[in-house]
Amino acid sequence: MALIVQKFGGSSVADAERVRRVAGIIADTYAEGNDVIVVLSAQGDTTDDLIEKAKEINPNPSKREMDMLMSTGEQISIALMAMCLEKMGLPVISLTGWQIEMKTNSDYSNARIKKISTERIRNEIGKRRIVLVAGFQGVNKYDDITTLGRGGSDTSAVAIAVAMNADVCQIYTDVEGIYTADPRKIPGALKLNEITYDEMLELASMGAQVLHNRSVELAKKYGVEMEVLSSFVRKPGTRVREVMSSVEQRFISGVAKDTNVVSFALMGVKDEPGVAFKIFRRLAMEKINIDIILQSVGRGHTQDISFTVASSDREKAEQVLVANKASIGYEKLNVTEEVAKVSVVGAGMMSNHGVAAAVFEGLYNAKINIIMISTSEIKVSVLVNEADADRAVAAIHAKFFE
Ligand code: ADP
Ligand code: ASP
Ligand code: MG
Repeated sequence: MALIVQKFGGSSVADAERVRRVAGIIADTYAEGNDVIVVLSAQGDTTDDLIEKAKEINPNPSKREMDMLMSTGEQISIALMAMCLEKMGLPVISLTGWQIEMKTNSDYSNARIKKISTERIRNEIGKRRIVLVAGFQGVNKYDDITTLGRGGSDTSAVAIAVAMNADVCQIYTDVEGIYTADPRKIPGALKLNEITYDEMLELASMGAQVLHNRSVELAKKYGVEMEVLSSFVRKPGTRVREVMSSVEQRFISGVAKDTNVVSFALMGVKDEPGVAFKIFRRLAMEKINIDIILQSVGRGHTQDISFTVASSDREKAEQVLVANKASIGYEKLNVTEEVAKVSVVGAGMMSNHGVAAAVFEGLYNAKINIIMISTSEIKVSVLVNEADADRAVAAIHAKFFE
């Protein structure tokens, strides 16, 4: 007997038939004698639909009210699932983030979990009830509802697993596990039996939406064993853990794409000490994260500095740069959203040379131009035109896996 946290994503509970199928998985886990805590996402495209509804009324709503709205999708899911399990004769209770005292900070729409009171969940589990918790939502110090950022139900699940000291956190989704690339886009993608926290964190941060990156961060910090598996096919998925068992050692674990990237080019800045400091200090003061930075070789007395930020920071970054044009001193600002970052991730890169060269060769063969490059110990990223992004993933994936 174990304490198991199971999370089911939106497509796993999209309609009545799928709710029944998932209820079957939950019921079987419970029947084996386990204590079961289930975290659910909003059904299908509910969250997107809610965002659309909001825009029809007010294109610029306050973040507080957005969270109030977006959090409703998960509440529908837990109530429906509870009704389904009730009908099967099982003891069950659904609880919102507020009811389990999922405390977060006040960063609406992207809140971070601070603390979970386990009392209510423990009480219910003590009565041998199946506990259903609404994912993605919490409550801040003003008792306002907050949400954890898109895809955040994964993080709710891991946080509850940590707080309850669960034996495993299972993330059920619409693919059979974690693959070497998005299996919906790359037919040759290979399913991994296991992956390390570090590699998964990098893949998730580089755009592989299969897991919310903060969920992996939390799992790593507290050593929670995660498994990603299918809610449609009952077979083992992918384990996410600290180290790999030696048989599975591979040197690249996957390729990911991120289209939520904007590139900024400041043309004709002065070629003198302190320029980069002036630019990036201004951006840092506005809490804007910079990703890739590229500085051109000086020509005469000027040079160009380019960098990328997340799409969500585009407006703020542009405002800062325009407002400080005189003090920074540049001739022209170019902003483009039509770019994407494609990354290859693998812990084996540290001890193997030639990964970057293989990436570039793959892109060259596919005649894809590279705009910027950045590398870290376990990753090589290239910025390409958005129109080339899917082909770039395919080309790089083929180079390493096919
Ligand atoms: P859920 O609603 O269950 O949370 P998501 O849509 O958030 O599901 O995540 C699952 C999706 O992630 C898959 O349908 C797949 O298209 C996508 N994906 C992207 N990269 C990968 C990868 N490397 N391995 C598996 N799935 C991936
Ligand atoms: N329903 C939320 C979203 O669509 C949270 C989640 O699915 O994890 O982002
Ligand atoms: Mg998800």
